[in-house]
Amino acid sequence: MHDFEKGMIKFIHGGRYPHCHSLFIDDERRALIDAASNEETLLAIQKERPVQILINSHGHEDHLLYNHLFPEAEFWVHEADAHVFRDVQNLIDCYGEEIEETERQRWADFLINSCHYVPRRSDRFLRHGEVIEFGEVRVEIVHTPGHTPGHCAFYFPEERILFTADLDLVKAGPYYGDVASSLEDTVESLNRLKSYPCDIYLTSHGRGVYEGDQIYVDRYLACIRHREEALIEFLRAAPRTLDDITDRGIIYGPKKAFLGPWDLSVSERFMMEKHLDFLIKDGLVRQEGKRFIYVPRR
Ligand SMILES: [Zn+2]
Ligand SMILES: [Zn+2]
Repeated sequence: MHDFEKGMIKFIHGGRYPHCHSLFIDDERRALIDAASNEETLLAIQKERPVQILINSHGHEDHLLYNHLFPEAEFWVHEADAHVFRDVQNLIDCYGEEIEETERQRWADFLINSCHYVPRRSDRFLRHGEVIEFGEVRVEIVHTPGHTPGHCAFYFPEERILFTADLDLVKAGPYYGDVASSLEDTVESLNRLKSYPCDIYLTSHGRGVYEGDQIYVDRYLACIRHREEALIEFLRAAPRTLDDITDRGIIYGPKKAFLGPWDLSVSERFMMEKHLDFLIKDGLVRQEGKRFIYVPRR
C-alpha cells in the first residue's frame, strides 16, 4: 500500500500536478505531511483512525489538494506561508503582482473547484530547529525558504530520513518562480540540506525516493548554475529584453507549455528575472532601459 516505509514513516506516492507525494506518520499521534497524494489511500488512513495533525510543507495548491478531508485535524504550517491558506486571493498573489481580474477569477475557480481550496487558519507555526514528537517518531523542522518563504523540510534523525518537499531533486531543477521566491535562499537552503546526515531523501514530486547521497543535491544545485551560464551566454551574444530572454526558454523550453492552468512562460520570466537581479548585483550584467547587457569581467 505504501511506496516506501521505514518504521512508522510511510510514503504515499501522488500523481501529476496538482498532486504531490505525502508522508504519513503512523504513530500514537497520527500526522500527515502534504495531503495531496492519493485520495483513496488518505481516506482509508482517516477511516482506520483519524489523523490528528495535518502539516503542510509550504503553501502551494499541489500540496493542499486533500486538506479538506481532514477538517478536524490540527493544522500546522510555517508562519511565512500561513497567509496563503487563509484566503485564496493570497495564494493567487503568489503567482503575479498585477494579475487581471478575469485571470484572478479563472485561478480562483481552478483552486476552489479543482484543488478543493478551503480557507484554513493554522493552529501552530512550524519553527526552524524545533523537534516534534508524535510518540516514538521525532521530526526536526528544517526551514528551507526559497521555493516559497515558508517552505520546510523534515528531518527524522532516528530513521535517517530527510523529506525535502519541493526541493524535489528532479533532473529539471528547482522552481523559484513565485513573486516571493528567492534564488539566493534556494541555493542556501539546498546547501543547508546537505548538513543533515541521512540514508534516504524523500521528495514531493518525481520519483520521490532517493538514496541519501549528496550527489543528488549537488546535481540539483548544478541546474541553477547551468541556467545562469545559459543566460550569460545568451546575453554575451547581444543585449536582450526580458521578453527575448523569456522566449528563449532556458528553463522550460522555447515552446508554449502548460502545467494545469499554468502558462510556464510566466514562471520562466519570473525565474529569469531573479537570475538577472543576481547577475546585476554581481556586476556581470547591467540594465539600459529595457535591455540587459553583458558586462565582461576586467
Ligand atoms: Zn511548491
Ligand atoms: Zn509541489
